[in-house]
Amino acid sequence: MERTVEIARQCVNEQKDGQIKISPKLGAVIARDGEKLGEAYRGQQHPGDHAEFTLLEKNLKGVSVMGATLYTTLEPCTTGRDAAKGKRPCAEWIIDHQIARVVIGVLDPNNAICGRGLRRLMGAGIQVVLLISTSVRRSKNSTTSSREIR
Ligand SMILES: [Zn+2]
Repeated sequence: MERTVEIARQCVNEQKDGQIKISPKLGAVIARDGEKLGEAYRGQQHPGDHAEFTLLEKNLKGVSVMGATLYTTLEPCTTGRDAAKGKRPCAEWIIDHQIARVVIGVLDPNNAICGRGLRRLMGAGIQVVLLISTSVRRSKNSTTSSREIR
């Protein structure tokens, strides 16, 4: 997981309308039997492309990752703006690639995704480990965190 956070730091800020916008720093690493198969960070090959998508569909295109463990800094997406643009959500790519286990750093604070990515993966029979559970209470404008290391 340390390497996942490290690679996430390499994320480049994306540009929109000539302005640099701060983008989330997200990374993903995949390993099987103690051997790293690949890694990616958001925007590594194309601005805005998610880390999981880049890892599975670009960096490891054609490579079998069946039964592997995917480490990702943020909960894989299930829907949202990118899905509306015709992009498949990362959770679906993970299921397609028959990944056995997903270790998630934190849940997506975006209400449209939060918890859904986790449930989608678990519903598909994937073992999911959540390292830090964060819930954002918008009404009180406060953030609570609890640590759940399993
Ligand atoms: Zn995604």
